[in-house]
Amino acid sequence: MRIVLMGPPGAGKGTQAKRVAEMFNMVHLSSGDILRAERGSGSELGRRLKTYMDAGELVPDATVVEIMAKAVAALPADKGLLLDGFPRTVAQGQALDAQLKQLNCPLQAVLVIDVEDAPLIKRITGRRSCPDCGRIYHTEYLRPAVENRCDACKASLTQRADDTEKVVRDRLATYRRQTQPVIAYYKDSGQRVIEIDGSAEPDEVTARVKQALQG
Ligand code: AMP
Repeated sequence: MRIVLMGPPGAGKGTQAKRVAEMFNMVHLSSGDILRAERGSGSELGRRLKTYMDAGELVPDATVVEIMAKAVAALPADKGLLLDGFPRTVAQGQALDAQLKQLNCPLQAVLVIDVEDAPLIKRITGRRSCPDCGRIYHTEYLRPAVENRCDACKASLTQRADDTEKVVRDRLATYRRQTQPVIAYYKDSGQRVIEIDGSAEPDEVTARVKQALQG
């Protein structure tokens, strides 16, 4: 199965993506993770990405499309695909459609997990992670045993530069303005679009997603 997973920042895409990809034997490609890895590599491209990403702005279409097209082209043929965070503009959606058509493996569904802005801001600004093992915590909902220390490796927890309130508000506005039209684009082109309320507990959201994809 090949699907696109969409939703505003903080809707729980990352969590759901990992679970769904495992359940349906799909490769999980997160554009945010791929771009963060490039940014962290110290390359010239990485330095350019940093300016956009730290400000919560979208990286230009041509750059993202090139990076994601390489990742899609390198996929093993015997696995499905779950795209997370890509496409985020209609132009990216069109480029992806063209590539998948050429590869003769079109998308089968677009899954949208949505949550209202106020709870999203609370979710994201409290998010912390361990720089060593990648574990995710929350200052309110998922606290470590010792404040600001990873339970597993005791490292000091960090906050993503784009998880501050000002940047989160900008990222949400960008999502509503530039990414929501991608949902309309898919609906207009006859794609199967599944919309799920992401405000429930993560396990409940997973159950709904599973049921929708099996149906
Ligand atoms: P995410 O982890 O998905 O929230 O992505 C983090 C940041 O990476 C975004 O705020 C953008 O700056 C950049 N980014 C990720 N995916 C895309 C995309 N498809 N198009 C443009 N920029 C992206």
